Amino acid sequence: MSCVTIKLNLCSPNTPSFNTLPLDGHFNFHEVHHAARDFGNRYQFLPMAVLHPKTVSDIATTIKHIWDMGPRSELTVAARGHGHSLQGQAQTHRGVVINMESLKGPEIQVYTGSSPIVDVSGGELWINILHESLKYGLAPKSWTDYLHLTIGGTLSNAGISGQAFRHGPQISNVHQLEVVTGKGEVINCSEEQNEDLFHSVLGGLGQFGIITRARISLEAAPARVKWIRVLYSDFAAFTQDQERLISAENTFDYVEGFVIINRTGLLNNWRSSFNSKDPVQASQFKSDGRTLFCLELAKYFNLDKTDLINEVRLAMAHQKPSTLKCLN
Ligand SMILES: Cc1cc2nc3c(=O)[nH]c(=O)nc-3n(C[C@H](O)[C@H](O)[C@H](O)COP(=O)(O)OP(=O)(O)OC[C@H]3O[C@@H](n4cnc5c(N)ncnc54)[C@H](O)[C@@H]3O)c2cc1C
Repeated sequence: MSCVTIKLNLCSPNTPSFNTLPLDGHFNFHEVHHAARDFGNRYQFLPMAVLHPKTVSDIATTIKHIWDMGPRSELTVAARGHGHSLQGQAQTHRGVVINMESLKGPEIQVYTGSSPIVDVSGGELWINILHESLKYGLAPKSWTDYLHLTIGGTLSNAGISGQAFRHGPQISNVHQLEVVTGKGEVINCSEEQNEDLFHSVLGGLGQFGIITRARISLEAAPARVKWIRVLYSDFAAFTQDQERLISAENTFDYVEGFVIINRTGLLNNWRSSFNSKDPVQASQFKSDGRTLFCLELAKYFNLDKTDLINEVRLAMAHQKPSTLKCLN
């Protein structure tokens, strides 16, 4: 997609050929600066224009137009989701940015049943899918930690969080995609249909087509979740426990590890059963400035609390004495 080239004076803000395209949405050739920024704030490539599509057809018409212009120009196209990339991946120098969040319809469609699924636009935010699917007691199986990211943005990468050890990343939980290809064709693809396109686009960094719609696996949403953080000072103990927990049968539903530097007061700010006024407990937290390792664990439950405590005990049976402290 990023190699599509056209014969066009890229410096001209008045690009007549784009203005004549029959679109439901519109191009903006002036207010383009926001599309030259992302979360990383390190790269700033100013596009020639931003397309605000209202329909999939707007995207297909634009891409086809660029394709038809021929192979010798240097015009590039980038889909932009929520712009949370860190290195300018959703930007394009003097090209066309497609603002996927403008693509509103069709609405989010939840299908219940024994294998529930949701159909969503590529520009939709994961947080909106959660809200909609919860109305049916359902939720996606695999998440990112942060939910204000678009479907197209995370499916172009991988989409990883604490459920990935069980369900795979988000790209492993997709049944079907609708994609606009580099020639402007709108194609449905899945494991069974146009599978090369399907596997290229998933994790394809936006280089193999634009995801305009996705069908994603759902599961019953848990009624409650027990959330636990376990701190380690020893890296080997931390990784050993993490590996054991993700391979054990009777384990947590969410396991994620991360590294933190204990800045003054950080641990006391965490909601926990730890009593910072108790001198014995407080002494265990004298680790200011040190690197610590944290396992974040969650157990889903619909049972009464006694059963849950037993389940958590079972899942944590491998805990090592080197664990610094368990917070919940
Ligand atoms: C605060 C924060 C927390 C994060 N947490 C996690 C996390 O827990 N797990 C995780 O895996 N990642 C995480 N990320 C990384 C994030 O998932 C990726 O950066 C993701 O690409 C951002 O989604 P976006 O909607 O902002 O996409 P953008 O940054 O807008 O785009 C990302 C890439 O996808 C392409 N793209 C966008 N939309 C489409 C589309 N519809 N079709 C084809 N290509 C498209 C773009 O061209 C670009 O190459 C986090 C990032 C931040 C800033």
